[in-house]
Amino acid sequence: MLLHFPSEPLATRDLRRDALERFRWRCRLPVLRNHGPESGDLGIFVTACDACGSRTARLSGLPDVDPDTALDGLIAELRTRAGRVRYGWRPATCPACDAPDPEPVSAVYARYMPEIEHDLHIELVFGRHRVVAVELHRVALDGTSTAIPRPTGPLAFQEAFGAPLGLRALWRAFITRHVYDEAMVVRAVEPGYVIGLRPFTDEPVEAEAMLAPFGPFIEQMRQGVEGYAGWDAITFFYEREHDDIPVPFAESYHAWLGGYAAEIGGGLLEPFVVADSDAFVDRLAEHAALYGLRVQRDSGEGALFVRFFAGHLDLRLNLGPVFFQILHRGLTFERGITALFLRELRAMGEARKVPSLVQRLLPGHTVRVVRGQYLELLDPAGERAAFGDLVRLATHYDLDDPAGQAELIAELLARDPALARSSTEAGAPGARTR
Ligand SMILES: [Zn+2]
Repeated sequence: MLLHFPSEPLATRDLRRDALERFRWRCRLPVLRNHGPESGDLGIFVTACDACGSRTARLSGLPDVDPDTALDGLIAELRTRAGRVRYGWRPATCPACDAPDPEPVSAVYARYMPEIEHDLHIELVFGRHRVVAVELHRVALDGTSTAIPRPTGPLAFQEAFGAPLGLRALWRAFITRHVYDEAMVVRAVEPGYVIGLRPFTDEPVEAEAMLAPFGPFIEQMRQGVEGYAGWDAITFFYEREHDDIPVPFAESYHAWLGGYAAEIGGGLLEPFVVADSDAFVDRLAEHAALYGLRVQRDSGEGALFVRFFAGHLDLRLNLGPVFFQILHRGLTFERGITALFLRELRAMGEARKVPSLVQRLLPGHTVRVVRGQYLELLDPAGERAAFGDLVRLATHYDLDDPAGQAELIAELLARDPALARSSTEAGAPGARTR
């Protein structure tokens, strides 16, 4: 993606601030309002051209920035990308007149932090042709921006911003800080989500003593913290081996806590997570609303069944495995939902459209939704003509495309050749060619 923004020259005295404001209001906030937690990383590059006098800002998507990189690494990468034309961010020529090598003014990188519903903007400020300053801003969805002094390390980042830049980097810093502590230590990540560590020891008796505060800690949490009193998920990373939690190796702590993996596997060091599945369901409900779905928990403690409603659609799914995957992959709730459950949310969002679409295309038929997840099609005589899974039908065909809609109808009608005739008479798409 490469858009030109804005097309007219910027002519204010403070070019850099003006570009940043325009980027925020015209480009970024509309994206955040429309796409919420799915908003991708975005950047602008502001240049000033000696040849034509234009001040331009070019917008580009930056989808390949590693979300697990800690702030220092991220800034280093952005500086590298901003320094050379060949990385695709910095324009080789003036967007207005094509003159080579326009002078860089600033570059801004934006990343959404769904845990706090704010955007992080990293602004690289140029002096002549190199970056001379880096400024951080936390931007609310109403456009309010707060400058934040650059924190040192992932723990300080979380304290300054209210959310980790990346949970895996926070995990690494958390363990490094506490590996030789004398007792277990915990740290809140977001509402309903706490990470913890039983520090290093090769003495089982000492390990047990270090974990002595665990019971009282859980009891205290269940008095209610930030509106959550369940705290029903308690899981230790080493359980990935013992309980056969099917986390792919590349996503498990082995990959992103590499330096500590042997100690964790050997039980010398015990990272753990305490979480409340109601908090997870709350985040899921917020995200699912983007797809027109309502979400309701449908089980007590010990299981995590969730119902998704939209119109006549009513699906009950076991979200327990997704929930535990998120905790063991070192993801926050929202990042985990986006990584592991987005396809399903989109499929259900499409499925809810199927009954009304089929009814519109086959007006002589009767469309019914059975048990919240199946489409039953009755022909004009009231006989069952087709029966199909809504989610499968929705994901198998492109419902926004007339060709996809025709294929969907063909599948439904092909189940009964006799029906194809009668539905044609009833005004199916094929009838219009008659
Ligand atoms: Zn120019």
